[in-house]
Order: sequence, then C-alpha cells, then structure tokens
Amino acid sequence: MERWQRTLSESITSLGELARFLPIHIGSLRPVVALYPLRITSYYFSLIRERGDPIWRQCIPDIREIEEDHLSPDPLDEEGFSPVPNLLHRYPDRAVLLVSSSCPTFCRFCTRKNRLINGKRISLKDSLDGAIRYLEKSPMVQEVILSGGDPLLLSDEELDRILAKLKGIPHLQVLRINTRIPVTFPERITSGLCRMLKQHHPLYVNTHFNHPLEITRESSEACAMLADAGIPLGNQTVLLREVNDDPEVMKELMKKLLTLRVRPYYIHQMDQVKGTNHFRTSVERGIRMMRRLRGHISGMAIPYYVIDLPGGKGKVPILPEDVRREGKTLYLRNYLGEVVEYPDDGGGD
Ligand SMILES: *Cc1c(COP(=O)(O)O)cnc(C)c1O
Ligand code: SF4
Repeated sequence: MERWQRTLSESITSLGELARFLPIHIGSLRPVVALYPLRITSYYFSLIRERGDPIWRQCIPDIREIEEDHLSPDPLDEEGFSPVPNLLHRYPDRAVLLVSSSCPTFCRFCTRKNRLINGKRISLKDSLDGAIRYLEKSPMVQEVILSGGDPLLLSDEELDRILAKLKGIPHLQVLRINTRIPVTFPERITSGLCRMLKQHHPLYVNTHFNHPLEITRESSEACAMLADAGIPLGNQTVLLREVNDDPEVMKELMKKLLTLRVRPYYIHQMDQVKGTNHFRTSVERGIRMMRRLRGHISGMAIPYYVIDLPGGKGKVPILPEDVRREGKTLYLRNYLGEVVEYPDDGGGD
C-alpha cells in the first residue's frame, strides 16, 4: 500500500467522526448522508476555519440537499449519451471515459451526485473493455477525457494501463484528465505518479479549484509537480452561491491560479441537479461577475462562463450579448446554431 492510500483511509466518512470536530446536528443530517454519503480527506477538512465558510459549504452535508426541489437526477441526460457503459459521447470528436467511481472528498454540489456519490457505484473492470472497443471503432473521436469520480484515485498501475490502451488507438490525438485531487487530496500527487503521466503526452489535466482558500502550500506544490512533468494545467470552477459568487473572490482565485501555472478554463453555471438547488445563482449574477473580470485582470486569467444545456444539448459560453430573457426563460444559441430554452428562475436571487 502506498502512503497516499493509507492517508486516504484516514478520511472522515461518518457523522459521528464529524461531530467530534464540528458542532453539527447528527440526527437531522442522518437522512442526508443516507442518500448522499459523506467523505472528506483530513487535508481538505483542515482547511475549514469556521462554520459555514466556503470550504465547509462545499463538503459538509446540508439538510437542504434532501428538500424537494423538482430537479432531475440527470439533467444533462448523460445516460442518453452513453452508447456503452462508462462512456459519454455527446460531441463527435471527443468522448468522456468514466474510469473511477469515487472521489477522496465528495462535493455536496456534485453534478453526478445522484449517479455517483449516492452509492450507485459505476461498476468498472469488464465494462471498460466495452468502452475501449467503442473508441477503437470510432475514428471521429480524437480526444478522450478521463473523468468519474476522480481518475487519480486509481493506482498508478491501473491508470498507466488505461492510458497506454488509449495511446494505442491511432486516431486518438490528445488525452485529458479531469481531477479535483490537487485541491482535495494533494498527497496523491507523487513523483511516481508524475513520472508515469509524462509517458503519455500529449496529456492535459484540468483541475477544479473553487475558492482562494483552496490555494495552499500543498495544493500549489501538487500543481507545480504536474506542471514540471510538462502537463498543461487548466481549471474548471463551479459558480456556487455563498462560496464564490462574489467578483472579488473570483478575481483573486483566477489571478492566483495563474501563479500556480494553472490556466482558468471554465466557470460553470451550476447544473440543475437534484439535491444542489441551494448552491445555484442566477445567470445574470454570473454575467455581472464576468464583466467585473474582463479588462480588470490578465486576459489569461479569464475563463469562459458556460452553461451545460439540459438534455445534453451541449455547453454554451455565455457572452452577455447572446442572452435573451423572457420571464423565467433564457434563450441561448448552442454550437449547432439551435436556439435552446433554458429555464432560469434565478435560484432565488
Ligand atoms: C464537457 C464535455 C466535454 C468536453 O467539452 P470541452 O468544451 O471540450 O471541455 C466532452 N464531452 C462531454 C459529454 C462533456 O460534458
Ligand atoms: S470531485 Fe468532482 S466528481 Fe468528485 S464529488 Fe467533487 S465534483 Fe463530484
């Protein structure tokens, strides 16, 4: 067992453990974790400073997760775009391979919380063979994005095997890994991992910082090790109410990411996923925030603000001039030129 695997086994996974450190009400949270389990690494937990701070909100269970919200467990219709198990193929030239069924810290706002962290584990092993065969027979796919769960929870050997298989498919030109591990579990970024990853270039890594409090000595070092292995680093942030929906916070985060050699890539509007409504802000709030970034910080620090349209209609970068609102509906144009309705009640804004 590697050291990071031992460290991982010290994570907080029960309300009882949590209550030893934090003033929480176990009884009222029990039905929440019955549906959406609790998991927090010691490292990420150590970043909490006080009740309700941005780290707390991202990882501590909240009673609002089980309030009736009439939202879908799978608003992006990922099931519908899954031709074989563990593969999502929505855009012609790139596909998402779900290689891991778990994460070191479960984010309470996770888009896949109803398919992943509710215990319906993605079952792997044999089903990955089907996905690889599908990719071999799909010459239009030029890029594969490893996701999950967190791909870096696999052992170095397992990950190496998957990456080598993908590299053996001639039409795949670029590999990408989406991981929040530099943020929630930086101990996992070892020199051995980096040595293995750099055998598989061109390999890109997109990570997921949401708040400046997540930029620490440890997470900075993890990013530095990946960057030193020649891996271009990007970042995807989710716009979260009372976590980072403040232009000054976002400005600081984006600027600091550049100093870590991490290029801000996307700010995601919260997907309309069951159990996450209390994290949602209005699209206008996001647009106002982007206005406060543009021109005020380095162009390299400015990501696209995107909505992933319901029903698998694709991601749309939101440029203020593209948006038309009628009451509670926005009209957005997607990459196919279709005008798509997007229900936006402002999440209570
Ligand atoms: C987001 C996403 C991608 C990648 O999109 P990019 O805009 O290239 O980052 C690919 N496939 C699916 C299903 C996605 O949701
Ligand atoms: S790391 Fe990503 S996949 Fe895992 S719980 Fe957080 S948001 Fe979901």
